[in-house]
Amino acid sequence: MTHYTCPACDGVSESPNVCVTDGCAMAGLPLKQCACDDNQHKEIENESLPQ
Ligand SMILES: [Zn+2]
Ligand SMILES: [Zn+2]
Repeated sequence: MTHYTCPACDGVSESPNVCVTDGCAMAGLPLKQCACDDNQHKEIENESLPQ
């Protein structure tokens, strides 16, 4: 299931919001789209790789 997560604080949203975690290094920046089903969010760490 597609979701959106912040790589800095691991915040997760069901919609493409920005991070709203106080004190997060990426607060106010767009969350990364992820489609993992194990809550590891490993896809976002590999987004720069092909496929
Ligand atoms: Zn964050
Ligand atoms: Zn994920």
